[in-house]
Amino acid sequence: MSARQIRLAAAASGAALLLAACGAGSDGGDAETTGGGAEPAAGADLELIQDGVLTACSEVPFPPFEVEDADAPSGYSGFDIDLLQAIADNLGLELTIADVSFDALQSGTTLVAGQCDIGASAMTITDERKANLDFSDPYYDSLQSLLVAADSDITGIADLAGRSVAVQQGTTGEAYAEANAPEAKLTAYPGDGEMWPALQAGQVEAILQDWPVNREHELADPDYKIVEQFETDEQYGFAFAKGEKTALQEAVNTELQALRDDGTYDEIYSSYFTDNS
Ligand code: GLN
Repeated sequence: MSARQIRLAAAASGAALLLAACGAGSDGGDAETTGGGAEPAAGADLELIQDGVLTACSEVPFPPFEVEDADAPSGYSGFDIDLLQAIADNLGLELTIADVSFDALQSGTTLVAGQCDIGASAMTITDERKANLDFSDPYYDSLQSLLVAADSDITGIADLAGRSVAVQQGTTGEAYAEANAPEAKLTAYPGDGEMWPALQAGQVEAILQDWPVNREHELADPDYKIVEQFETDEQYGFAFAKGEKTALQEAVNTELQALRDDGTYDEIYSSYFTDNS
């Protein structure tokens, strides 16, 4: 099933859920008599930047989590975006994506400045980030990895002394490389959109970053391979300016659980990932 089909199915099941929710609350009685009067505008109590719109900040591209997609309702798709689109649909909100710097997003600067309601950028939940950010419940388990040319003599992190390695600025991959490959020549790039071309152009000899993204490159181009994985036990969460979006944070957690319960999460997940890839 294509990502687009999945999105449509997810939207349909979101609508079904809404209908079910509207009809619930009585023993099959008339829904109109059980409601509490006129419904407020969607998201009215969520303190959104713009009424009826969920504005999300993301650093694009970071495949398969966020990519540009002219066919998608927001202009972007990917695991994070499709999941957030389903959440927005369930909340009756339109989803808008702003493409921003990951470093400023993970530090809290972008969200505290009020540029977006939520960060959706394959962001690992860390204690350091919690100083400035609140996170949703985890929605994806991840790990780090090392990607090199298929004919490289680099076989793992132990071979990186003196070698040029790309990392993304402000990421857990950068921190992992600094801590575990102190002799490597690290170059920090703004994102995968710069790192992957740099590796392909031979400007660097390796990329150390989140495994699913390196895996995407390995699958797309057999001239590159992952030589080592690092079990960092990372979990991605949606991010919010600390203490400022608690109602939205709760609503997102509620909808995340609903999407897990009704199978939509699994449908979106399996449209991007298989068990062993
Ligand atoms: N998961 C990594 C982190 O949070 C990388 C995220 C990203 O580059 N978008 O640091």
